[in-house]
Amino acid sequence: MRPHILNPLFASVTSLPGVGPRLEQLFARLVGHEPARAVDLLFHLPSGTIDRRMRPKLRDVAPGSVVTVAVTIDRHRPAPPGRARAPHLVYAHDETGDLILAYFNARKDYVERLFPVGARRYVSGLAELYDGMLQMVRPDHVADEASLAKLPLIEPVYPLTEGLHAWQVRRAIDGALNKLPRLPEWQDSGFMAAERFPSFGEALLALHRPQAPDDASPEGRAWLRLAYDELLAGQLALGLVRAHMRRLRGRANIGDGRLQEKIVSALHYALTASQQNAIGEIRADLAKPQRMLRLLQGDVGSGKTVVALLAAAIVAEAGRQTAIMAPTEILARQHFKTIAPLAEAAGLTVAILTGRERGREREDILARAAAGDIAVLIGTHALFQEDVAFADLALAVVDEQHRFGVHQRLALAGKGEAVDMLVLTATPIPRTLVLTYFGDMDISELREKPAGRPPIDTRAVPLARLEEVIAAVGRALEGGQRIYWVCPLVAESEAIDLAAAEERFAKLKEHFGAHVGLVHGRMRGPDKDRAMAQFASGETRLLVATTVIEVGVDVPEATVMVIDQAERFGLAQLHQLRGRVGRGAGRSTCLLLYREPLGETAKARLAIIRDTEDGFRIAEEDLRLRGEGDVLGTRQSGLPVFRLARLELHGRLIEAARKDAALVLSRDPDLGSERGQALRHLLYLFEREQALRLLTSG
Ligand code: ADP
Ligand code: MG
Repeated sequence: MRPHILNPLFASVTSLPGVGPRLEQLFARLVGHEPARAVDLLFHLPSGTIDRRMRPKLRDVAPGSVVTVAVTIDRHRPAPPGRARAPHLVYAHDETGDLILAYFNARKDYVERLFPVGARRYVSGLAELYDGMLQMVRPDHVADEASLAKLPLIEPVYPLTEGLHAWQVRRAIDGALNKLPRLPEWQDSGFMAAERFPSFGEALLALHRPQAPDDASPEGRAWLRLAYDELLAGQLALGLVRAHMRRLRGRANIGDGRLQEKIVSALHYALTASQQNAIGEIRADLAKPQRMLRLLQGDVGSGKTVVALLAAAIVAEAGRQTAIMAPTEILARQHFKTIAPLAEAAGLTVAILTGRERGREREDILARAAAGDIAVLIGTHALFQEDVAFADLALAVVDEQHRFGVHQRLALAGKGEAVDMLVLTATPIPRTLVLTYFGDMDISELREKPAGRPPIDTRAVPLARLEEVIAAVGRALEGGQRIYWVCPLVAESEAIDLAAAEERFAKLKEHFGAHVGLVHGRMRGPDKDRAMAQFASGETRLLVATTVIEVGVDVPEATVMVIDQAERFGLAQLHQLRGRVGRGAGRSTCLLLYREPLGETAKARLAIIRDTEDGFRIAEEDLRLRGEGDVLGTRQSGLPVFRLARLELHGRLIEAARKDAALVLSRDPDLGSERGQALRHLLYLFEREQALRLLTSG
């Protein structure tokens, strides 16, 4: 149960003064939570501040600056009747000069009441020159002697949404601040002192009612404090989940090596040292009576699949089953195709289950999985379905994990007893992000590429030179090479992108006829498969594709990658796409075809891709250029997106939060101590309280 003291913060914004149902809707849109609550407004932090401290005499006002001036009102000139567009002007002065206040579309009596002739008023706003006269259009603030003290000298500026006024947001946030209860301190006092952190409440006040412009800066102490709160809440929740997983005892899966050996001897290559390392780590994990929770991180083409297969072999040697989950149909089939012959050589039964297996076929697979006749079941989301059951599932391998939500991962784990988990990711996630999203998950890395792969010759070419590129493609085709031609599928309207891809396909077909194939996301599954299979077999040798080939597809004979409108792809995507070539021994080329003129970020992206093939460096650069959300595509995946913490600014705090959470949980696993109780408030505030339920359910 949520501590009572927090209830006012989780009440709808309609509990705040001046907020009715109409504003409630707008606030919901603004904060992205329906219904919008007081806490959502408190976490709606300013994007900047307006400094109103400048109080010059009129003579000294610099046009174009925001000033607060004291003036005496001389006279009014209301908009002439019938000329509604003309402003109502108010003439005013101080001892050094004159100022005109202009009100468009204002009621005459309203303006006259605001500025009685002969009275002294303080106005704050943007001063400009108009027709040689100093003018202020609708001052942001008007005060008299009595209300002067309330005029904000440093005013926060908030992100808005259409239909919502700045003053409405400010007033509502003010109301929310007034409801802020005194909360127990959950941060360690020593750490707070070292970081010069204010309390949670002080931090919110400093951000929303700043006394100096820096108070509201994302790099200021107040913001840092809240970012740390959020990161700590995340790490604590992950820690609790992990402790829970650990408490649920695992099972020892000990193999005798007979299947592994057969698989290794069926390979036409030798495992790299880092593949061997990773398998060793996994073997040790599987043998322990605790659950395995391991991330296998390896750049595109580093050979993760065979590592996963060997893990499955260990489990099969122990007489148990493995599920391998892929994010797309194509990728699931690809895995199946790679794994099946190797598994067969070892006498392992493999099957595939996706949305496409239906009726009798599906029932048959389900029955065999439930009977334990299938050792390795490969599939897509279809594996989560309720009627999918295993005789004895011991290992779940999740490929390209960041496309799956945490819930799905847990759903899969629920299909067996103490299921060990191996997560494969080809997006080289920077360490900061690994910590954020996976907590202290164990990590194996495949840092070296399989031997004998020359670097990929990468070049950026303007679209104006398309004909040259087509000629080069023609020469490559004559030389017997296989070529990907990728078109973007990222526009608001998928139809437009698709039309562009089809147009490109038509043009290339004019040149190269039957050599050209097409695959895109709108095609039916079997058609996609056919297009991929024709390319893999060499029946077509130039494959025009939308980004369906992005993840994991493996055609070692492909040596040329043309990326059309490369400026529209993100760095990680470009890297993934390029990783589709350079898989065999031959020299490969990647052409980044771009439309001019290039924006700054696009230029930087293309330069990075041209300069390096190091996926880790690319991922770090990506983080720097775009911020964390996009790197993982988190918005689609259901991974937590931070509200206040920005990894590019606050990344250094993650490590501290992780250590802090680990220490807390080791001393006080039930969060029963005084600090533990306070930390429960933190988990509720950042809505990570689901993790608390794991405490009571044991
Ligand atoms: P990814 O890590 O991107 O999933 P894959 O597992 O698809 O990579 O492997 C990419 C290609 O490299 C495949 O064709 C695979 O057969 C090959 N491969 C894997 N390990 C090695 C190795 N040690 N030596 C040579 N080729 C390898
Ligand atoms: Mg792969």
